[in-house]
Amino acid sequence: MALGTGYDDQDCPIARSLEVVGERWTLLIICSLFYGLRRYTDIRTSVGVSPAVLTQRLTRLIEEDVVARVPGIGAHDEYELTPKGEQLWPVLSGLAQWGSEHYVKPEARQVLTHHQCGSVLDDTGLCAHCKIVPSARDVVRQPREVDADVKLRSQRPHRLLEPLRP
Ligand SMILES: [Zn+2]
Repeated sequence: MALGTGYDDQDCPIARSLEVVGERWTLLIICSLFYGLRRYTDIRTSVGVSPAVLTQRLTRLIEEDVVARVPGIGAHDEYELTPKGEQLWPVLSGLAQWGSEHYVKPEARQVLTHHQCGSVLDDTGLCAHCKIVPSARDVVRQPREVDADVKLRSQRPHRLLEPLRP
């Protein structure tokens, strides 16, 4: 099940990172947390991962202080990124840019804007208007027609990391 159990004795920083986030589904789970999904069921539906795998991945991410389990509304616990987890945004942003350029049709690409000025971020995550690369909390995700997940598709433009409520 575990991918690359032999990475943890390496000095290569990429290998060390993959030891934590390199398993299948893990980055997609982290992405759904950036998009504001917080409940176990919502994450599972959005990512399309089995309960057993989702539980295993979340447990690992909590052990590594990338994700925290926190009390939610009602009886449901929720999951959120820790400050260490939020530092993964440039990683996801870079992967998204590479994937969009090579594998995604232009009409299906994710549009991100800068919260402070409303400008569309370029392929490198830069706001050309403000001449900065905003941190995740200042990035706004525009909903896409192609989003399979109804919670993501039906949303208005939404700031990353703000909880998506029904
Ligand atoms: Zn801006």
